[in-house]
Amino acid sequence: MTRTVTLIPGDGIGPEVTDATLLVLRAANADLEFDVQLAGLEALQQLRNPLPKATLDSAERTRLILKGPLTTPSGSGFRSINVELRKTYDLYANVRPVRTIVPGGRYEDVDLVLIRENTEGLYVGVEHYIGMHGDPRAAAESVMIVTRFGAERIVRYAFEYARRWGRKKVTLAHKANILKYTQGLFLDVARQVANAFPDIEWEDRIIDATAMQLVLDPSRFDVLVMENMFGDILSDLMAGLVGGLGFAPAGNIGTEAAMFEAVHGSAPDIAGKGIANPTALILSACMMLDHVEQGETAERIRSALDMVVREGWSRTRDMGGTATTREFADAMVRALE
Ligand code: NAD
Repeated sequence: MTRTVTLIPGDGIGPEVTDATLLVLRAANADLEFDVQLAGLEALQQLRNPLPKATLDSAERTRLILKGPLTTPSGSGFRSINVELRKTYDLYANVRPVRTIVPGGRYEDVDLVLIRENTEGLYVGVEHYIGMHGDPRAAAESVMIVTRFGAERIVRYAFEYARRWGRKKVTLAHKANILKYTQGLFLDVARQVANAFPDIEWEDRIIDATAMQLVLDPSRFDVLVMENMFGDILSDLMAGLVGGLGFAPAGNIGTEAAMFEAVHGSAPDIAGKGIANPTALILSACMMLDHVEQGETAERIRSALDMVVREGWSRTRDMGGTATTREFADAMVRALE
């Protein structure tokens, strides 16, 4: 059955990488149709609302979103629409795989998956100023929230993911040595969940040591699970292991909806130049195809990508080549044909 997808092209490089992804999906005969909607700065400019009702109505109907990056201005009153969408649909599991595609980099054969808790932690956005001595902005405070419910479902998701995709090991990265209550609770819950998965190897590691070990020897890891902010930071580090943000896809999964997007942002430094690498959004679309049981189409796209990049048919600038986004997409279409 054809699945309808709410498509949010986003801003910055978003529309460029979205066009490339649509070309590839069409060439692969993905059984999808798209309902294009606005969000973020574009929506604010055109409709004076960064998350318009039409976009939410569409997502409500389809429960499946493919999204380009959205700019979130720092330090202003503008709330992150990415966070807003994740909250609206309780998309609690942020799944971020990284895999070596371009040969000859610093690491060969990296193949890792980071599962990031997406609804709690420091990113709940509970923060305020604390006025002292008449200065209303003398200090600021953010609250990290970890619930037993939230920790349990994300760790369980990581183990179930490992089982489903034939992966051997789950590592919990945490900071329970310092944050004894919040991170201690996360660790405590993870130990209990791990008992229910005797077939999957399990370990826990301090987050800073995990960062170092990932750089020294990524092959010692397989699936990693952690709270929201740690996952945000380490997933960019892991993207660096495979050549940068242009290669890092993501899925935000809830029980009743899912949203797929690249890890990277709107890249204002290269926006409008037609040189962005669309791989991360193409691979996010592949994760979406897996999710809607069109895994065979996803596999064909991944094989075409391997062919195009490994055999050097086409490479964008971040891969050391000279191809534009469009030329890269055209090479993908040729590979699929
Ligand atoms: P960024 O990911 O946009 O860019 C970081 C660097 O990586 C830049 O040098 C950029 O040119 C490069 N890069 C990113 N994607 C690339 C691609 N596909 N091909 C080639 N090079 C690529 O991070 P930033 O500059 O910190 O953020 C810009 C804006 O994006 C901010 O407003 C931020 O809030 C937002 N953002 C949105 C999302 C999202 O929508 N999911 C995620 C992260 C950041």
